[in-house]
Amino acid sequence: MTYKSKFGFGCMRLPLTNADDPTSIDQELFNEMVDIYMDKGFNYFDTSYAYHNGMSEIAIRKAVVERYPRESFKICDKMPTWALTSQEDNDKFVNEMLERLGIDYFDVFFIHNINTPWFKLAESHNSFEYIKKMKEEGTAKKIGFSFHDTSDLLEKVLDKYADILDVVQLELNYLDWEDPAIEAHKCYDLCAKHGLDVYVMEPLKGGVIVNPSDEIKNEFKEFNPDKSIASFAIRFCASLEHVKMVLSGMSKMDDLIDNCDTYENFEVLSDEESEFLEKMAQKLAESVAVPCSECGYCVDACPEMIPIPEYFSLYNLSKNQPESNIYRLYFDKLADEKVPADECTYCGTCLDFCTQKIDIPEELEKVCEHFEEGFTPYAGAP
Ligand code: SF4
Ligand code: SF4
Repeated sequence: MTYKSKFGFGCMRLPLTNADDPTSIDQELFNEMVDIYMDKGFNYFDTSYAYHNGMSEIAIRKAVVERYPRESFKICDKMPTWALTSQEDNDKFVNEMLERLGIDYFDVFFIHNINTPWFKLAESHNSFEYIKKMKEEGTAKKIGFSFHDTSDLLEKVLDKYADILDVVQLELNYLDWEDPAIEAHKCYDLCAKHGLDVYVMEPLKGGVIVNPSDEIKNEFKEFNPDKSIASFAIRFCASLEHVKMVLSGMSKMDDLIDNCDTYENFEVLSDEESEFLEKMAQKLAESVAVPCSECGYCVDACPEMIPIPEYFSLYNLSKNQPESNIYRLYFDKLADEKVPADECTYCGTCLDFCTQKIDIPEELEKVCEHFEEGFTPYAGAP
């Protein structure tokens, strides 16, 4: 296996024609990106039933399946665990996914987002046995699950099911490596102990890593002016022995070009670079108020339709750039045009969906306090 073969095209954050509509995928731009990606010898696409409200699978069908021979690309898809209501749903969702993609087998198939409540759901609906059967029958070449919880739960799942699985997809990046809420290092070690491959999601933690404070940006520039911050994050993951795939969600052509360059000229992370990233991770962790990866799962779950990650993003920015016009964005773009953060009813529905274990209602309260107390919207910008 070469380092180049570790570059996976994550299809959760595809380019959009309307930033407020996750289904409005810019198919023309996506096709162009796919052509460059395939032309350079990369071939792995990661999607799920849920991404872009089902439109990610359809966009892949149009850009990849209908334009390239089946043997030239690989597709990974994921069962919507949280939506299972009966054992028959396993079949129903898989058939729907195959149809949306226009294929008759998956190269990789995952039970999506195993955490404490959804592990129970997957078990009670026999999903592990179901994917084992998919592999035996050839509907999936490799099987596993994507994981968002602590190492204790991972150990429990692997002790029970590692024998039938090939891969675990983990959130792994240099910020989460030793983070006590994510435990990426411990989870990676557990997968290695069980002889399973690790596929990496969120190598940039949904953009948190590449949008740090100016101080951190300057430190990266001083350390190596020729390399992007993203390239360090990718190399951190892909340099790990048991990591066989690193997914990059790319919503712009520039992201794709930068990632292609990283893999085409791949260099294993040096000790000096590792030490530098450890230092940057500490600084970044101190500067991020809410470690939201902007995955958006909570938004679909929230009955009030509060644009939760948008509030957290502005809150984080506001903490690092107090003199900017972020207060204006909060009032004009979010609280006025969308649903105000203080409409949270504390129902807690979002909590099971949060991949980062954030206490969303509590943090939304802090967001409201921060903006409402820090600024009088009609008295002018601070
Ligand atoms: S707790 Fe608040 S943010 Fe979470 S789902 Fe309920 S209303 Fe939405
Ligand atoms: S709050 Fe949690 S679920 Fe919502 S977007 Fe952020 S990380 Fe994802």
